[in-house]
Amino acid sequence: MAQIFTIIGARPQFIKAAAMTRAIADSPFWSQTILHTGQHYDTLLSDIFFKELSIPKPNFSIQLNTSKRSERMVEMRKGIQEALETSIPDVVLVYGDTDSTLAGAQVAHELKIPLIHIEAGLRSFDLEMPEEINRIETDKLSTLLVAPTTTAIANLESEGLFNSLLSGDIMHDNAIHFTKDMNCIKTSSVLVTMHRPSNVDTIERLSSWIDSISDFCLDHKISAIFPVHPRTEKGLIEIFGKDFKSTLIHKSITAIKPVGYIELLTLIKSSSLVITDSGGMQKEAYSCGTPSVVIRHNTEWVELIDSGHSILCPEPSDLMEIATSKHSQMIDNSDNLYGDGHASVHILKEISERFYAYDCSTYE
Ligand code: UDP
Repeated sequence: MAQIFTIIGARPQFIKAAAMTRAIADSPFWSQTILHTGQHYDTLLSDIFFKELSIPKPNFSIQLNTSKRSERMVEMRKGIQEALETSIPDVVLVYGDTDSTLAGAQVAHELKIPLIHIEAGLRSFDLEMPEEINRIETDKLSTLLVAPTTTAIANLESEGLFNSLLSGDIMHDNAIHFTKDMNCIKTSSVLVTMHRPSNVDTIERLSSWIDSISDFCLDHKISAIFPVHPRTEKGLIEIFGKDFKSTLIHKSITAIKPVGYIELLTLIKSSSLVITDSGGMQKEAYSCGTPSVVIRHNTEWVELIDSGHSILCPEPSDLMEIATSKHSQMIDNSDNLYGDGHASVHILKEISERFYAYDCSTYE
């Protein structure tokens, strides 16, 4: 059997890896070795996803000793290099745009192991976002660029990168897979998440978002559910004190701990609107047929905006008008913006054809 070496470290990557893990488990040709970089390590951001999405326990786990980005990159690269030199895989797989993605890409490239980047070609054209730098750098180092959309392919080609596969989106695979038997009743409630530094790292900005979401809810006589990311929790404690949850209740917002993936999909499906700055949740809202307001100046998932399924809301002062325009809108996702729900199978087939010498014409 040939070996795929998967490098993951942050919440969205565990979810993405779940789709590829199902495809790899069904393949007679590939085995998977998993390395966890330790970027997200606590139970609610990491362990819960391994359990509920049936991802095998990592073969290698790095213990990071620092939260400073530059030092953390050094620690990750060292741990990844040791594991790759021990495992000698046939290909390395990295996902998305986190520091774990770039660290994995740099070491695989250094060791001359074929590198596959899943979610290649996404661009927000905002170099202030650390994720944008990670994406651009990882794409440059990749042997196979797995792009979810034609826009992503066009972005790659405009940078002179042509070694790509149009696959559809593996997060869409997951949303379809885990919601197919879900029976949810739509409520008027709104689901909120935010964790981008530009929204939550300054107290004024975070307060403004909370106030505008609260005004929107009170105006429409609805409530919001807000699974709070640890980064955001720090700011909320600073603004409202340790008892921030009861203060938010007065603002019609119920703050809860981060939830697992299945619970999250249930919440998205039963909500009338998603307000988020998460890349993944914009698409999950679409996959679940729920409109979304993206509280950012830009998005790399531009087709959601172009097709009217999502709308950007750059400033808190715009939220009332923008969220009102989207609330309870029906989303028809039969346009298959993100593929046929089998992106992971298409990806594995391509990897097999390029990096594993056998006739895979019979393998679907
Ligand atoms: N997510 C989850 N529980 C939560 C919030 C998010 O399971 O309480 C999932 C959701 O599927 C989302 C993914 O985590 O798509 C990644 O979200 P996050 O906002 O952390 O990262 P981003 O998508 O912005 O990279």
